[in-house]
Amino acid sequence: MSEVTLVFVAALATALATGLGALPFAFFTFEGARWLGRANALASGVMVGAGVSLLIEGGGRSIGRTLLGAALGIAFVHLAQKLLEHVGTPDLGQLRGADARKALLIVSVMTVHSASEGIGVGASFGGGEKLGLVIAVAIAVHNIPEGLAISLVLVPRGTRVSTAAGWSIFSSLPQPLLAVPAFLFVEQFGALLPVGLGFAAGAMIWMVARELVPETVTQIPKTELVGVGAVACVAMIVFQSLITA
Ligand SMILES: [Zn+2]
Repeated sequence: MSEVTLVFVAALATALATGLGALPFAFFTFEGARWLGRANALASGVMVGAGVSLLIEGGGRSIGRTLLGAALGIAFVHLAQKLLEHVGTPDLGQLRGADARKALLIVSVMTVHSASEGIGVGASFGGGEKLGLVIAVAIAVHNIPEGLAISLVLVPRGTRVSTAAGWSIFSSLPQPLLAVPAFLFVEQFGALLPVGLGFAAGAMIWMVARELVPETVTQIPKTELVGVGAVACVAMIVFQSLITA
């Protein structure tokens, strides 16, 4: 297998792993506003935790470029919200109105966020096959809770588990698509990586603050939101640090 094929196959496997995040819903159902609130709080915690990990990783490479990326990520979500308000939210499968809007925003944010991870996988193969495979496995494992976060927003709103798994995998497709060019042009993409990591973090944290939290406080008490969110956030940061250690 050629090196480029190996990079593509490894990054494709990371994307497919995201679909495993929907698996818990095959055994567990979230019914009613209270459970929807808890699902939102869990998804918020996982996304903020992932965002903090990305900021730490980007800041380790370039604080300035990471902060620039974060500002661009926030602007992206803000513009996407304005656009949806302006043109109206298209239906997404069975989802209508506000539910379709949240689903569309979380899938878009998670899709742009995985671009930087695709660059990370490709760039790591630039440092040798062994390093590339280690990073690919780490990204695959870290994709699972992110697939869970997407499914936590989609399934309690009425999306089928298989469809949520499909959207989770879709959100990671930039990983195989960007891993190959990042591998071929390591220098150029390497310089871009902190901006991409910051962008992903800014977009995810802003999405939580502007979309998920305002809804969740109407479904569960603030103390429960903070409690569930904090536990999920810390768990994601610890999990992330363990798999990249
Ligand atoms: Zn991620």
